Amino acid sequence: MYTKIFRAVIIGAPGSGKGTISELICKNHGCVHISTGDILRQNIIKNTELGRKAKEFIAAGKLVPDSIVTKTMLARITEVGNRSYILDGFPRNIAQAQALEAREQIDAVITLDIPHDVIIDRVKHRWIHAPSGRVYNIGFQDPKVPGKDDVTGEPLTQREDDKPHVVARRLELYDELMSPVIAWYKEKGLVATFKGKETKEIWPRMELFLRDRMNA
Ligand code: AMP
Repeated sequence: MYTKIFRAVIIGAPGSGKGTISELICKNHGCVHISTGDILRQNIIKNTELGRKAKEFIAAGKLVPDSIVTKTMLARITEVGNRSYILDGFPRNIAQAQALEAREQIDAVITLDIPHDVIIDRVKHRWIHAPSGRVYNIGFQDPKVPGKDDVTGEPLTQREDDKPHVVARRLELYDELMSPVIAWYKEKGLVATFKGKETKEIWPRMELFLRDRMNA
């Protein structure tokens, strides 16, 4: 049994395995995974007032304004109540981090440090059947006939934003955006960095860290 409520933020680039790690942590340690992107997308699907506001920013590849995101996330944290949680996708800038700090005491900021070339290589092997959204990973989850969708036989394509030069640019932008946030939390002594190429390589070290911190 864990004796302490554990409030953490997880920070990792797109394709770093952040979603998988967050799910593993929550499955094994009984905490709530609070993902800003998921909350916003669900609101868009349900066509709520928040969803309608967020939609235009997300579609334009822009951040949703701080006031909207912060209000939404703090409300979700209140709903979660007296339980451990992991924030994923929030805070994305110093203003959001300060708003969070004013309300909550964060115990740890977990950062995933995965080399860019590893992420680019992983995403490079992802092919999709655009009409259905079915995803294939070449060399790992291959279609039955190379280049064709299993169900319809139609050609597979690569998402424009999964192409190596686009992914490389997205990773650079992500680093530019998140470095000040990581530096801000480092000054507060909260950052635990996990370096590695794969989730299965990182996970045992993360488990040790969590056991230590959650029982502290
Ligand atoms: P994600 O799934 O985390 O990549 O988020 C998808 C989109 O939601 C982002 O491209 C932003 O437009 C928006 N978003 C997610 N988190 C935040 C945040 N903390 N602040 C502002 N916008 C956000």
